[in-house]
Amino acid sequence: MRVRKINDGLPSPDALDEARSPEREEEASHRRPTLGRREALLAEIVRLADVALAGTISESLRTCGNPACRCRTGGPKHGPYGYVSYRKVDGGTARYYVVNGTHEEVRRRLAAARTLQELLRELMEMNREDLLARAKGMKQER
Ligand SMILES: [Zn+2]
Repeated sequence: MRVRKINDGLPSPDALDEARSPEREEEASHRRPTLGRREALLAEIVRLADVALAGTISESLRTCGNPACRCRTGGPKHGPYGYVSYRKVDGGTARYYVVNGTHEEVRRRLAAARTLQELLRELMEMNREDLLARAKGMKQER
């Protein structure tokens, strides 16, 4: 089946590629001063998406049943013990226990997910500004 091309007034993806070709780089960067930031954002988004974990962690330190143990005599308690609660793809919630020795990594990966969401928001804001700027440009050309 042939896909009908819809003329939505936006440059085709091919046109965008052309705008990024080396011989037009100067012009392109003049027209889109945010291109460097955009590429940095995309690279960071890919890096973070590769390691991000969904959810929030709950951690606790515990005392044990041995009255003579350090945890009951002023020493460090046991743990941290923790679990991650997260929203599944189907919308339900689930949790899993954090395996001993992976707490730091789990925390880092959860933080990566939060940063990822901030960067995506920034990128989408750039996309909106680009779209508006292009729409204004097309009006003036008429
Ligand atoms: Zn103990």
